[in-house]
Amino acid sequence: TAPLLSVDDLVVQYHRSGGPPTRAVAGVSLQVRAGEVVGLVGESGCGKSTLARAVCGLTAPAEGRITYDGTPVRPLRVRRRELALTGIQMVFQDPYGSLNPRRRVGSQIADGIRTAAGRGESAAELTTPEDLLTRVGLPASAAERYPQEFSGGQRQRIAIARALAARPRLLVGDEPISALDASAQLQVATLMRSLAVESGAGLLFISHDLSVVRLIADRIAVMYLGRIVETGPTAEVWADPRHPYTRALLAAVPKPDGAGVLPAELPGDVPDPADPPSGCRFHPRCPQAFDGCDREEPQLIAGGVACRLYAA
Ligand code: SF4
Ligand code: MG
Repeated sequence: TAPLLSVDDLVVQYHRSGGPPTRAVAGVSLQVRAGEVVGLVGESGCGKSTLARAVCGLTAPAEGRITYDGTPVRPLRVRRRELALTGIQMVFQDPYGSLNPRRRVGSQIADGIRTAAGRGESAAELTTPEDLLTRVGLPASAAERYPQEFSGGQRQRIAIARALAARPRLLVGDEPISALDASAQLQVATLMRSLAVESGAGLLFISHDLSVVRLIADRIAVMYLGRIVETGPTAEVWADPRHPYTRALLAAVPKPDGAGVLPAELPGDVPDPADPPSGCRFHPRCPQAFDGCDREEPQLIAGGVACRLYAA
């Protein structure tokens, strides 16, 4: 079956005065199937959020195609309602900014239910704010309260309930757990996974935290400086990471005994995407760089890795 979401050779660029355009997303292909959870990981500044915004129609691509449910995604005005009508819902990092502090939680969730009704969902499929709050692990009485009466983790549950109210077919979470306490992160991530999977929706879950993504994603895509450098089934990537960048990310995941291992082998910061390194974009930080890596840009090969170590 055709994927629910297909991103093909996507380029998204920003224009800054006086300089050449910055290619924040520099040729990315990615698919999400209905009922599938795809984890997109990478350091901040690698283009993950830009990709998410383009998928949702909030940013116009410079090149490439985005197809959702068999139809090209057309850039929208930034209006939640218009986006919701497409059947795509986004959950953002900041549950404070995305909820209206002056409206009761229940009435904000009811907006989503009305959107689903407006899309022609049958009344039998529709639900109540109280039911949705219960499904995200909050008491039904939360509907009568205001967002600021809740903790960060609870607010993110409210934001998820509101997203689900519109009965999305594709849920996009852009760092939805990174503003939460460590104790709430895995709970909220797991909740998003189970709610998406049980409703048959696709979930594109964006995070810099590989330790959480590996627990909820069916497939992982690792992004570095506007490109996907490795992709594959989560268990395979976790057991046998091949790209040196993926290996470095994995080495940075804290071990179960609590000893966090820092990526000592990964020096420096993510370079400026306005001026990416020549050749392999990772070469200035790569512990395995060899002759030619600063000149030849590796492509993602069929095995799911973009690194000259694996070139045919
Ligand atoms: Fe490292 Fe070269 Fe592979 Fe790039 S292509 S990740 S620099 S070994
Ligand atoms: Mg971001």
